[in-house]
Amino acid sequence: MTLPFEGCLIDQKNWIMAEITEEIKENESGLNFVEQYIKEDLEAGKNGGRLNTRFPPEPNGYLHIGHAKAIIMDFGAAEKFGGTCNLRFDDTNPQKEDTEYVEAIKRDIHWLGFDWGDRLYYASDYFPQLWDLAVRMIKEGKAYVDEQSSEEIARQKGTPTQPGQNSPYRDRPVEENLRLFEAMNRGEFEEGSMVLRAKIDMSSDNMHFRDPIMYRIIKTPHWRTGDTWKVYPMYDFAHGQSDYFEGVTHSICTLEFVPHRPLYEYFVKELADETYCPRQIEFNRLNLTYTVMSKRKLLQLVKEGLVRGWDDPRMPTLCGLRRRGYTPSAIKNFVNRIGYTKYEALNHIELLEHSVREDLNATATRVCAVQNPVKLILDNYPEDKTEVMLLDSNPEDPAAGKHEMPFSRELWIEREDFMENPPKKFFRMSPGNEVRLKGAYIVKCTGVDKDEDGNITAIHADVDFDTRNGLPGADRKVKGTLHWVNVPTAVKVEVRDYDRLFSVENPSAEEGDFRDLLNPDSLKIRENVMVEPWLAENAKVGDHFQFQRLGYYTVDPDSKDGHLVFNKTIGLRDTWAKEQKKG
Ligand code: ATP
Ligand code: MG
Repeated sequence: MTLPFEGCLIDQKNWIMAEITEEIKENESGLNFVEQYIKEDLEAGKNGGRLNTRFPPEPNGYLHIGHAKAIIMDFGAAEKFGGTCNLRFDDTNPQKEDTEYVEAIKRDIHWLGFDWGDRLYYASDYFPQLWDLAVRMIKEGKAYVDEQSSEEIARQKGTPTQPGQNSPYRDRPVEENLRLFEAMNRGEFEEGSMVLRAKIDMSSDNMHFRDPIMYRIIKTPHWRTGDTWKVYPMYDFAHGQSDYFEGVTHSICTLEFVPHRPLYEYFVKELADETYCPRQIEFNRLNLTYTVMSKRKLLQLVKEGLVRGWDDPRMPTLCGLRRRGYTPSAIKNFVNRIGYTKYEALNHIELLEHSVREDLNATATRVCAVQNPVKLILDNYPEDKTEVMLLDSNPEDPAAGKHEMPFSRELWIEREDFMENPPKKFFRMSPGNEVRLKGAYIVKCTGVDKDEDGNITAIHADVDFDTRNGLPGADRKVKGTLHWVNVPTAVKVEVRDYDRLFSVENPSAEEGDFRDLLNPDSLKIRENVMVEPWLAENAKVGDHFQFQRLGYYTVDPDSKDGHLVFNKTIGLRDTWAKEQKKG
């Protein structure tokens, strides 16, 4: 059994034992705790036995892998229990939102393999109903216009242990509130000069009940509603009601909304009756080591040119991971492995990488590429001869078949695969030593050519002609096997190697400017990589390959005719699996 907290660096020292026991119980049922709540509600016949979830992104940035965890929950639970899932854009702040983000978000959800069908909604669809509710609450004495500055309002809020102070505008007559709220919406007042607040309880234990702001003035036109509105609802006044208007039954979100839940319920109660009421359930966010996930910080990296855009393969955005070569199934497997719990955790990026390797190992086509080439000359091989060697396209998948690789007198091999004076356990190429060339002959090194500075310019070897596939010496074993590419037919490509974007494990926990924590060596461009001709002919943007002995790679959209660009998705060495075996 895998525990739901596999791969988490638990940062909360004192978990409650009961909670852990509960998680394990849930895991044995095959359902996570959110799904278990849903099942119970369905079995109890709540909301007429309906299940409707929603994914509510704010279109103010691109989706990242944290959002994938929420999407997999929202759409996944709906699929599992035969319900529906809405996509609702939470477009309540025209200052930060853009259609570019709307389109990107749709694309990324589809890429993950989910679809909202005809259930595409916008919070801005509900502005009229939200307005009506606000007016009703004013009339019932439950809301008032406050003319204080936001600093003043914050000062009066009190602290969790000290009650707040009432605003001097709290007891304004209903008529005056109505008149001012309407004037606010006509644009008669400046941004920040007044807000509409709910009149609840300035000494409540829950800070969110201390007369929360319902509406603020924003004069930037909205991309959908134009300049119809000059007041816009706050998240807390929009979210629960939008759920209600749409018929959402389970509003699943992350743990930071736990203290908002009573307010969610307070506003929804203004609308709901016994027959239907949405329910908010919270799970832990996905946090990754060596990664920042805050949209504000990701936007800053893009705007300041610290990365090459939202889809830079070093970014944790879904479009970045896609460009890097990560697959939807790898992301889903990772999310299943870390699980959904009720306590915050920091997840190891190595576990995500492990999931990526596992998926690509099963599916990626094996090819030969030499990233740091040096010429190998086979002196006893005829000069005008070319043979065709057959290479398994994927030993994990017999259906993948084989592909052809030309072989002749001059080959490219890795410079690192040769040592003139090797240490004892070096089984690759060195003078007098034998190695097998992958899928071809055993060769014995006879010497090297050097330039006047002593740099090696070519390596010489002799072929043992009896050792090719199908010949008597084919099974002869030697310790080292090297990959190679035939010189006359090799194609030169560009490869972009990536390392972690941040050089510290938990950048969000560090003091100071997060930009100072960027890894200066996170991108390395190799201009001189030699690949086999079959790859150059067959590679299409987005395809996945394993370069033998080097790692997994994917074709970048920057590729043009005659100039292929590959992104290194991930190396072959699985530090996660290794740690697990040890531990
Ligand atoms: P913002 O600070 O702009 O609100 P956000 O990351 O919360 O940023 P939203 O667009 O509001 O962005 O997020 C949409 C949904 O995705 C929310 O329900 C949110 O709880 C969920 N979500 C966001 N980040 C994560 C994360 N790291 N792990 C799991 N779910 C997340
Ligand atoms: Mg949010």
